[in-house]
Amino acid sequence: MASIHSYNFAGKRALIRVDFNVPLNETLEVTDDTRIRAAAPTIKHILEQGGSVVLMSHLGRPKNGYEQKFSLENIVDHVSKVIGTAVKFGGDCIGEEAYAMSSTLQSGEVMILDNVRFYPEETAGDEAFAEKLSKHGDVYVNDAFGTAHRAHASTTVVAKFFPNDKLFGYLIEGEIESVDKVLNSTEKPVTAIVGGAKVSSKIVIIERLLDRVDNLIIGGGMAYTFVKANGGQVGNSLVEDDFLDMAKSIAEQAKAKGVNLLIPTDTIIADAFANDANTQEVSIDAIPDGWMGLDVGQETIAACHEVIVTSKVILWNGPMGVFEMESFQKGTVSVANSIVEATSKGAFSLIGGGDSVAAINKFNLADKVSYVSTGGGAMLEYLEGKELPGIKAIRD
Ligand code: AMP
Repeated sequence: MASIHSYNFAGKRALIRVDFNVPLNETLEVTDDTRIRAAAPTIKHILEQGGSVVLMSHLGRPKNGYEQKFSLENIVDHVSKVIGTAVKFGGDCIGEEAYAMSSTLQSGEVMILDNVRFYPEETAGDEAFAEKLSKHGDVYVNDAFGTAHRAHASTTVVAKFFPNDKLFGYLIEGEIESVDKVLNSTEKPVTAIVGGAKVSSKIVIIERLLDRVDNLIIGGGMAYTFVKANGGQVGNSLVEDDFLDMAKSIAEQAKAKGVNLLIPTDTIIADAFANDANTQEVSIDAIPDGWMGLDVGQETIAACHEVIVTSKVILWNGPMGVFEMESFQKGTVSVANSIVEATSKGAFSLIGGGDSVAAINKFNLADKVSYVSTGGGAMLEYLEGKELPGIKAIRD
């Protein structure tokens, strides 16, 4: 398999699938450029090696062809700034203008095609469309981890037109390496913290982690399903009654496998789902009717801290409480700080999938952990053990 480290890009046009699906404000300015910055090392490397770059991405969810607010033209200047090189806009991704531009691209030059999702063929994984896209490059580089779980034309199908010249960019490579580091760790103890709203969306991950971790901390809304399964009173907390048996089974499996399962013991309850609700700190199995648990309590925070700071490998997926509201963010902040402390003592920490990534960014701690994943859904599917089509297409 070709590798970005050894591939000779000199004189070649690299067609790079990036994930520039960035948020824009009302005046169509980029409000968070994390994803653009994440792709910069790959782009810069190829340019330094004497190659040229054709960028392709999706942006938003256009329904029916071209829509100005979803045009990648809106982000051309921002991309130029981030990579420190002028970027040309090629227009329609399979239009004449784009081919005229890509076919005459010189070493060191960068162009960007317009939104591949202006064509329904993109998400349909249409082969003829993928072949048209492939004409823009001599080598295909996939660096869009966030869409690697989709078998779309530009993320997966296009790879077949580059049988010997297809490879991962640094971003995807880093994502894969960091998850594999957690899942196949020989260093112990390994701790996974799984939080978030619902246990139903994390079952596969939890069951898979049980074979790989020493400690499993459950947090967030899903904790109340575990507490209720144990006979606790959870009041009006979020509970999935269909999953009570599943929660019991997870606890039994943990016991059988020698995994230390930490279910919260205390909680911050509120009389409404609101930042200014009345609150109390109570034992998690004695929540009065009319009250709901929205964060973990001090005792739980201390127990989590003890486990996390002595861990060598840590995976964090999903917040401990409703961290979006200041009144219920303490559990999530505390776990983030414990992970930062463990990392400073040499642990490897991966923040992967969804809202724990949002949380670590909100608390400005992203640069104090080992790796923050950029691919929400893709990271979840990778953790579930699924073979992501975008990754398979490069490896095959
Ligand atoms: P997920 O996408 O499954 O990781 O869930 C993340 C969401 O779960 C966040 O928006 C949190 O606000 C929410 N959440 C965390 N704890 C609770 C809780 N105790 N009750 C309700 N929602 C929660």
